[in-house]
Amino acid sequence: MNLVTEELTAISPETGSECSLENYLALPDHTMDKRIADARARLGATTLLLGHHYQRDEVIRFADYTGDSYKLSKIASETDAKYIVFCGVHFMAESADVLGHDGQQVILPDLNAGCSMADMAEISQVEACWEELERMGLTADTVPLTYMNSAAAIKAFCGERGGLVCTSSNARAAFAWAFARGKRILFLPDQHLGRNTGYAMQIPMEDMVVWDPWALQGGQTANRLAASKILLWKGHCSVHQRFLPSNVDDVRAKYPGIRVIVHPECRWEVCQKADAMGSTEQIISFVERAPEGATIAIGTEIHLVNRLARRFAAEGKRIISLDDHGCLCTTMYRISPQHLAWALENLVEGRVVNRIKVRADVKQWAKVALDRMLEVK
Ligand code: SF4
Repeated sequence: MNLVTEELTAISPETGSECSLENYLALPDHTMDKRIADARARLGATTLLLGHHYQRDEVIRFADYTGDSYKLSKIASETDAKYIVFCGVHFMAESADVLGHDGQQVILPDLNAGCSMADMAEISQVEACWEELERMGLTADTVPLTYMNSAAAIKAFCGERGGLVCTSSNARAAFAWAFARGKRILFLPDQHLGRNTGYAMQIPMEDMVVWDPWALQGGQTANRLAASKILLWKGHCSVHQRFLPSNVDDVRAKYPGIRVIVHPECRWEVCQKADAMGSTEQIISFVERAPEGATIAIGTEIHLVNRLARRFAAEGKRIISLDDHGCLCTTMYRISPQHLAWALENLVEGRVVNRIKVRADVKQWAKVALDRMLEVK
């Protein structure tokens, strides 16, 4: 877990000790429904419950708003609610804290809900990379740009050096913003989103160079680095990287006429074989616009795919996962109904548990980078 976030389990001295999480974890899922609904109702407008599309059904059904990380961060920046309960992963709660007002508190129901991709770019590694680029005289025309799926320290690093944050919804616009200010982008931490976006902008593959944080000088020659247009950090999403080109071939063979849409965190080879590529919000919109009777394979997290399959079955649309086995984000799955009930019932009692609070100096620059993201359409 990154070192710039204070994760607080605050216990109000007036109201005694927190309800033990262990007592909740021993109870079955369905017994949480009424408790969550009751606590939610008692908290009223003081509390906003945000749910990412990859959350479990038993959790997301209680969300006031659902969305991808872009949509949810925008909502977090606009709400006046005192408490934001974020059913998502750590970097999303951090971003909500950065974008929120003074006095607001952000709660992540399970602190173990991290993101393996975000963990692939440590701030010390990124600083070491930047020092190498500086030594080669390349930083003056390099703009650092990080995907939302990164720690607050990485966002702050980008903000402080004239860069910004993007999501899969606005990556292309963010790349254009960066290219208007420099010749080269250092893109963190997802190589696939970076490559897919660069390729869609007609940047030749040979001008996109992978920086391996574990190799000397990123595993590249100085000439290659100097000639590059995009430096792709060697990170990936363990969920989306599981989709393979053969999955696209298989569904096309099995369902003639099928449409395939994938998330840009998928490998370039998979995206090339698909009919369309888009963020989760764009995937939903693609399914909504599809004609009645369409069959669509989706390359993204299985909870969203299954939810869309149920929602559009009545319109005769057949929605399947691109991979027969379905790809599950295990860290998103960590937010259970028990964790949510525990967080909400503690709030009802006046206790804030699992607060995510980004350190003030990091917050300042992370906010600069996130504000730039919100300005870029
Ligand atoms: S789906 Fe991938 S990028 Fe998204 S939270 Fe899970 S591991 Fe991270």
